[in-house]
Amino acid sequence: MVLKFKTREVLTKIDPYVLGKSTVELQREHGLGSICKLSENENIHGCSPKVISWLKEGNGELFLYPDGAATELRKEVSEFLGVRQGELVFGNGSDEVIRLLSRAYISEGDEAIMADVTFPRYHTNVFLEGGNSVRVPLVNGVHDLAGMKNAITDRTKLIFICNPNNPTGTIVGTEELLSFISAVPSHILMVLDEAYVEYVSDRNHLDTLPLLKRFENLVILRTFSKIYGLAGLRVGFGVMNEEVAGQLLKVKDVFNVNALAQGAAVKALHDQGFIGKCASLNEAGRSYLEGEFHRLGLAYFPSQANFIMVDTGKDGNLIAGELAKRGFLVRSGVLLGYPETIRVTIGTEQDNRAFIKALEYVLGRNTSGYQA
Ligand SMILES: *Cc1c(COP(=O)(O)O)cnc(C)c1O
Repeated sequence: MVLKFKTREVLTKIDPYVLGKSTVELQREHGLGSICKLSENENIHGCSPKVISWLKEGNGELFLYPDGAATELRKEVSEFLGVRQGELVFGNGSDEVIRLLSRAYISEGDEAIMADVTFPRYHTNVFLEGGNSVRVPLVNGVHDLAGMKNAITDRTKLIFICNPNNPTGTIVGTEELLSFISAVPSHILMVLDEAYVEYVSDRNHLDTLPLLKRFENLVILRTFSKIYGLAGLRVGFGVMNEEVAGQLLKVKDVFNVNALAQGAAVKALHDQGFIGKCASLNEAGRSYLEGEFHRLGLAYFPSQANFIMVDTGKDGNLIAGELAKRGFLVRSGVLLGYPETIRVTIGTEQDNRAFIKALEYVLGRNTSGYQA
C-alpha cells in the first residue's frame, strides 16, 4: 500500500496487533444471547468484591491528576512482595513496562532474544526501537533455554522469558532456569514475564523475587490484568534493580497509571483470599479440561496458567469459528504459530462443561443431543 504520509521505515514492517473478536460483534453476527469469552485469559471470576465496593463509593477524585509516583500502590506492593519501593516501576499494564524496557535499552541493531512462539509484544516493541528479535523455537511448547543461551551475541541487550509462557502455558523447570540465569552475562537484562505466576501450582517453579539480590540484571514483570481481574483498568509493574528502574522512569509518561487503577489495585492486593480462591478454582478447571482432552484423544501443552493450548487436529480458524457460532470465543492457534490448535481460557465449572460439549460437537465426536 502506498502511504500518503511517509512513516518511519520500521512501521512498514509491522502489522497491527490482531485483536480477538469482541463479544458484542459476535452476538450481533450470530444472534447469540450470552457469550462465553475464553479468548483473552482474563479472570473469569471478575475481581475482588472489595474493588467493586471501593469503585462504587466513588473514591476517585477525577479532577486531579493521578499520583505519578503511585505512592500508595508502591508502598503496598513493596510490602507484599518484600522488595524495595525503588525497585518498582508501574505501567499502564505490564505491556507498558515492556515498551519502557525497549525504549531505554534497545538501540538500532541491538538484539533481544525471545521464544518462538511467545507474547508478541516483546518483538513489536524491540522492533519499533530499531532492534532485532532473535527467536528461538520452543521445544514441546517449552522455552529452549540452552538454545537461547547459544543465541547470545555481542549485540544482545534483552532476553525475554515468559514463565508461564503465553500461548503454551508451560513453565521452565527450577534447575534449568536457575542455571540459565547464572550463565547469562551480567550486562544483559533478563526479563522474566510472570503475568500468570499466581496460577502456578507445580512445585518445580522458581521463585524469582529472592534472586533480585544476587542478579542485578533481572527484571520481573507482574500484572493486575490476569488473576487480579483488573484488565480493563490497565495496571502492571516491573521489579528490577534501582538503577534500571531509574532509567525506565526517564522514558515513562508522567501520569501513566490512572487514579482508579491505582486505588483498585491496592484494594485487589489486599484481598488475597479472593486470589487464592481463583487460583484453586482455576486449578480444578485446568484438571477437568486436561482430563477431557485426554478422553477425547486431543494433545495439549501441560499448562500452569489460566488457559490451555489444545491440538484439535483441524484448522484452528475453522474450529474457533465453529465454536464462536455457538457462543464460545477462543483464540485460534493459526496466528500463534500452531495452526491446528486453539487456546482456551479456563472458565467457570459450568463454562468448561459447556465448552467441552461444544468442542465435541464441532469436532464431530458427539453430535447426539447437543443443542447447536
Ligand atoms: C496478559 C499478559 C501481559 C499483561 O498485560 P497487561 O499489559 O499487564 O494487561 C503480559 N505478559 C503476558 C505474557 C501476558 O499474557
